[in-house]
Amino acid sequence: MDFNLTMEQQQIRAEIKKVCQEFPDAYWRKIDSEKAYPDAFVKKLGDFGWLAALIPEEFGGTGLGITEASIILEEINHSGGVATACHAQMYTMGTLLRHGNEEQKKRYLPKIATGELRLQAFGVTEPNAGSETTRLQTSAVKKGDRYLINGEKIFISRVLQSDLMLLLARTTPYDELKDKTRGLSVFLVDLKANQGKLDVKPLDLMINHHTNALFFDNVEVPVENLIGEEGMGFRYIIDGWNAERILVAAEAIGDGRWFVERAAKYASERNVFGKPIGSNQGIQFPIAKAYANIEAADLVRYQAATKFDAKEKCGAEANLAKYLASEAAWEAANACLTTHGGYGFATEYDIERKFRETRLLTIAPVSNNLVLAYLGQHVLGMPKSY
Ligand SMILES: Cc1cc2nc3c(=O)[nH]c(=O)nc-3n(C[C@H](O)[C@H](O)[C@H](O)COP(=O)(O)OP(=O)(O)OC[C@H]3O[C@@H](n4cnc5c(N)ncnc54)[C@H](O)[C@@H]3O)c2cc1C
Repeated sequence: MDFNLTMEQQQIRAEIKKVCQEFPDAYWRKIDSEKAYPDAFVKKLGDFGWLAALIPEEFGGTGLGITEASIILEEINHSGGVATACHAQMYTMGTLLRHGNEEQKKRYLPKIATGELRLQAFGVTEPNAGSETTRLQTSAVKKGDRYLINGEKIFISRVLQSDLMLLLARTTPYDELKDKTRGLSVFLVDLKANQGKLDVKPLDLMINHHTNALFFDNVEVPVENLIGEEGMGFRYIIDGWNAERILVAAEAIGDGRWFVERAAKYASERNVFGKPIGSNQGIQFPIAKAYANIEAADLVRYQAATKFDAKEKCGAEANLAKYLASEAAWEAANACLTTHGGYGFATEYDIERKFRETRLLTIAPVSNNLVLAYLGQHVLGMPKSY
């Protein structure tokens, strides 16, 4: 067992820190208040190849592991930024990499690696299906050499900041299926080619995620943009869940560290009743407790990432890491807000922004209830709730 990061991993952390220093709190505050997209930051990361970490070298990426990719995202959040703005560019291509054919990989991956093509929209969630993905209704009907897509999606992020969207749609009606996990297929949708057929309605949400409702009106996808086998899409999406959970866990750990460091500093400096507030256990212990939980979650995150990179089964560890890290980050967020008193609500302290951002990680991309359901059913063998 080795708990130390390699030289290369330490270097990656240091390099990301350096990039992030060019984008201080004021940058993220402005982006948040204007509900803008952090273009300059994403471009910089892309130019240095950091978003191509998981793309193999033969397709123009840097061919790093999930451990390294997770360090990149962790450090962005630890530095005060928000990796969710661009994390999907890093991992959405995983479905294409694992299940696409050689022609598709050669055609798209090198351009995704350079950032020439942005594939950071991932269309799964629907208003009538929610967490029950196998119930989704958006249909893809084959007509000659193309599929026609009709239906609607909700909460789909970064569509307006993408060239391509990975889409999960129904190719066999639910009632005709014996195995309800079949009948869904994955497509690569060319967003620019479908302007006018895909209505993108930005949603006004608690956090600045560029998230949209989508309405498909005969959106066209050429048959060569079907990924893998028709009807196997749900399986392909599940294959990407462990990577996503490990990366989201790392982002939460980055957030947690940011909150704990800010809280500990402020608690040591702010004097009330003639002494630093941090000398009171009511302030000090919640910060220390959050710190302990973040460190524990971090160990599980590295365990999950190490197993993932060794191609071992890691469903339990990836789910544990996502759960523990997002809950610990939320605990740290609350401790930090309490520590700052009224100032925690002032935008100039950035705490309320990070507070909103980190809360999402307990709900999306998967809610912690469903993570607990995975642990309860697949690890502990208890009955299914759905
Ligand atoms: C900012 C933002 C960005 C997002 N980006 C994307 C995106 O890019 N692409 C995409 O496809 N989706 C995206 N989502 C959607 C997100 O993945 C879903 O919101 C999330 O998976 C939960 O689904 P739901 O909102 O339909 O909740 P529901 O399924 O309606 O569930 C509501 C609550 O009930 C709980 N619940 C449901 N069933 C059970 C059960 N059996 N046991 C216990 N609890 C249960 C859930 O855990 C949840 O807490 C985004 C969401 C947000 C808020």
